[in-house]
Amino acid sequence: MHVIWIPFLFLVGACVGSFLNVVIYRLPRGESIVFPASHCPSCGRAIKWRDNIPIVSWLLLRGRCRWCDVGISSRYLLIELLTAVLVAGLYVCYFVLRLRDGISGFTEDWPMFVAHAALLCGLLAASAVDIELFIVPLQVMWVCAAVGIASAAFRPNDAFVPHASPATAAVSAGVVVGLLAAWVLLRRGWLQPSFLDADDKPITDERESTVAITAQDGVNPRKEILREVLFLAPAIVLGIAGYFIATRIGAAERFCNELFCETSISKNLASGTGAVFGMLVGAAWIWGARIFGTLGFGKEAMGMGDVHILAAVGAVAGWKAATLVFFVAPLFGLVWALHLLIARGKRELPYGPWLALGTLIVLLFYDALVIFINRFAALIAA
Ligand SMILES: [Zn+2]
Repeated sequence: MHVIWIPFLFLVGACVGSFLNVVIYRLPRGESIVFPASHCPSCGRAIKWRDNIPIVSWLLLRGRCRWCDVGISSRYLLIELLTAVLVAGLYVCYFVLRLRDGISGFTEDWPMFVAHAALLCGLLAASAVDIELFIVPLQVMWVCAAVGIASAAFRPNDAFVPHASPATAAVSAGVVVGLLAAWVLLRRGWLQPSFLDADDKPITDERESTVAITAQDGVNPRKEILREVLFLAPAIVLGIAGYFIATRIGAAERFCNELFCETSISKNLASGTGAVFGMLVGAAWIWGARIFGTLGFGKEAMGMGDVHILAAVGAVAGWKAATLVFFVAPLFGLVWALHLLIARGKRELPYGPWLALGTLIVLLFYDALVIFINRFAALIAA
């Protein structure tokens, strides 16, 4: 079956890449990703279906518009090729090379594969936008998180998304309710947004975008970040309350244990809640680093886009994988920063691509990393 699946997934990946190109260009500019149909950005003429075949058309037209002969960015070809290689390559790594423990086969584990592939595609699109405009399209990460939660709830696999215990489920429920409450208060104007929600504004002009987002003159980062602490306060309080209710009050404890006993429905619930818990842990790592970093250095550290990225990683791959990514990603960023420092002088870099690269490494080599960490921990303890 591999002989059929690998080329098929390569083609699917190329088509997804073609769609990602639309997302990368239109989403940050506030345009619809459905209408109008693809057109040449230079002469505005509609692109015929035969000129819109992923990878092939770009090569046949030698990267030029059929009508006006203006060059089409090689980014289109690159994204289509990368997506195709990612999707087919992930299949090879999981189902042919069997890089991960706990995989039974494609017929059994396809929902997990779809979620992981969607996450990698989403991270590729987010990285491309982040490199160009220094923003992360949040909607892309929301879609990835939703696919992750749905996949975990549909086909539980403890080796990929650790199931939630009754206590972690209660904490997750409390935090989610707290976040929703704070979000409603923010929309109603009872809570003030931090940094004027710069991430939410669509980009209208490419040249102005990076200036508008990095320049925050007259803004006190420490004061701004305290607004985010206030935003998180209900979630923290309700999360702690959830933990104590589920572990200290007898009736609630019995209810939770009943809800999460070993029946089949309970397993789906525990797995789906485990994905939600992973999402919260992923977001908490970056948001925590953002709050303490900003308070410590008096300069905005990490973006809300990065918070959304690791939240999606946690929803798809579980809280342990998201935690690993949090610690693995800075290593790549550091190596790159050192290289830039030596080669061309200092330059500000978006963090999204390093989180994406860290995620790829953690997804593929999760088991080896866990063994390495356990040995390292044993060495220190000895
Ligand atoms: Zn044209």
